[in-house]
Amino acid sequence: MPTYARADVAFERGEGPYLFDDKGKRYLDFMSGIAVNGLGHCHPRLVEALTAQARRIWHVSNVFRVPGQEKVARRLVENTFADTVFFTNSGVEAWECGAKLVRKYHDETGNPQRWRIITFNQAFHGRTMTAISAAKQEKLVKGFYPLVEGFDQVAFGNLNELRAAITDETAAICVEPVQGEGGVRSGDADFMRALRQVCDEFGLLLFLDEIQTGMGRTGKLFAHEWAGITPDVMCIAKGIGGGFPVGACLATEKAAVGMTAGTHGTTFGGNPLAMAVADAVLDVILEPGFLDRVDAVARRLRARLEALAAKHRSVLTEVRGMGLLLGLRIRDGIANTDVIAALRDAGLVTVGAGDNVIRLLPPLIIGDAEIEEGCAILDRVLSETRAS
Ligand SMILES: *Cc1c(COP(=O)(O)O)cnc(C)c1O
Repeated sequence: MPTYARADVAFERGEGPYLFDDKGKRYLDFMSGIAVNGLGHCHPRLVEALTAQARRIWHVSNVFRVPGQEKVARRLVENTFADTVFFTNSGVEAWECGAKLVRKYHDETGNPQRWRIITFNQAFHGRTMTAISAAKQEKLVKGFYPLVEGFDQVAFGNLNELRAAITDETAAICVEPVQGEGGVRSGDADFMRALRQVCDEFGLLLFLDEIQTGMGRTGKLFAHEWAGITPDVMCIAKGIGGGFPVGACLATEKAAVGMTAGTHGTTFGGNPLAMAVADAVLDVILEPGFLDRVDAVARRLRARLEALAAKHRSVLTEVRGMGLLLGLRIRDGIANTDVIAALRDAGLVTVGAGDNVIRLLPPLIIGDAEIEEGCAILDRVLSETRAS
């Protein structure tokens, strides 16, 4: 179905931070399949893990123990707030597991009247009926009514609106620490801490969507660590598979109290192939020094982008984001999609976001050479960009 306005480019091969199309042209990849290929393309450790697993066993039903799941879950638990994990094939399934867990928690703990979740404007949680109903963005929901009930929306960053929206039926607050699709808008540390406080005050669960911000993207394993808080439930995906489809819903034992045998399930989620790759991704990201390096590289890239924004004021109005999830706000009157196409022609792959933003999501493995190369292309293309 033509649900994507696809660019007329076909990539055939990838190597680290580079992509090669079917005509042999080379591109620097500052998109990473939308924060998926965090370790670049065809990382040798990931290729080895996947192919070795492919020779052993691909799939068994989740009615059996899956040792790979037990291992990856243990590592996630050891390195996060979580006590328990449910594996999925995609981001939205991980989010949906979290949304179900929230309702089940309150039902199980004597408050079945608490079933509504507060979300934020410009949010994105995926494309199922429930996830679009939660995000409410016009472009997501148009033509798909009636929506799933139970989501109340407030302005991102507005604590007064948030408090006013809480009722006896509120069960949780769901938020992306940095809104990716919504335009690379960051909730600052004070906002994140305030959300935790409000949840504690009203007995709500804090449900974080770290599908895009997680797995090292911001220079910590998860973005909420920058605020020094922990959620009760969190969905992840994208970077955990490094390109293999896998997601997970993480929770505290307390929040997951109702998720007992028979309450939720998946045929493919957490299969041995996915778990072999996720385990290898964790090997690399959890290596001592890896995340500090991401943080340092991100700061250098950001400084270069700030300088480009100062130089190209007629095109760029702002640099946004955290770590290697960065946004360039394009001035009104110039379409971000036109600049993205020009960058791609010049050999730099990026992706759009809401609010006329160009999103930069380079692989976490880039170094100074890639920063120089990417910024040189940006400088050149921005110099040639005019309002039409
Ligand atoms: C990508 C994304 C999703 C949806 O993930 P899918 O794998 O496409 O279902 C949900 N939330 C956020 C924040 C995302 O970036």
